Amino acid sequence: MTHLVTAAVTAGVVSIYWYGVYGGNSATAPVEPLAERAEKAAATAEAPSEIILGPTGLAIPVSGLEASQLIDTYTQARAGGARVHDAIDIMAPAGTPVMAAAPGTVEKLFFSQGGGGITAYVRSDDGRWIYYYAHLQDYAPGLKEGQKLGRGAPIGRVGSTGNANPAGPHLHFAIHRMRPEDDWHEGTAINPYPLLAGNRPAG
Ligand SMILES: [Zn+2]
Repeated sequence: MTHLVTAAVTAGVVSIYWYGVYGGNSATAPVEPLAERAEKAAATAEAPSEIILGPTGLAIPVSGLEASQLIDTYTQARAGGARVHDAIDIMAPAGTPVMAAAPGTVEKLFFSQGGGGITAYVRSDDGRWIYYYAHLQDYAPGLKEGQKLGRGAPIGRVGSTGNANPAGPHLHFAIHRMRPEDDWHEGTAINPYPLLAGNRPAG
């Protein structure tokens, strides 16, 4: 229970943060003083990397879930607090279809008994991002390395393979920023939560 409350509070704080970032899009947002707006515009021009260069328009990779049902578990501690999660867990019944959040190519299908279990690493067409799907129950029929996927293409089904608790099947979903020389298991994690929760499907 404490865990759930913490998660809810975390999600709330993140929502407030993103409201701050995107507040200008809302009809109910208070009008900002001109000076403040100019300051923000300048900051955006100088440092666009975090938001503008991030992947946008992502599909929520578990079938039937809405953005409002996602919980930001990105910074949850793991293994005694020595490391953080660097991914989000999307809870869903075992067998729920998992689909590609973004287009790309299946770079690696990997099994890790003590980690992600049945996993898929999909690299974006520009090579700069890896989308990582873990704890799958199985792969979509015919899924293979080198295969091109469109956004929403089937990847597999939600499960609890690897070190996931069988009582709580979920998709462990991560996004890694890749340098050109980075191999499939490298890269630097960014938080998928605001990218998913901040891009609700139109209609
Ligand atoms: Zn996880």
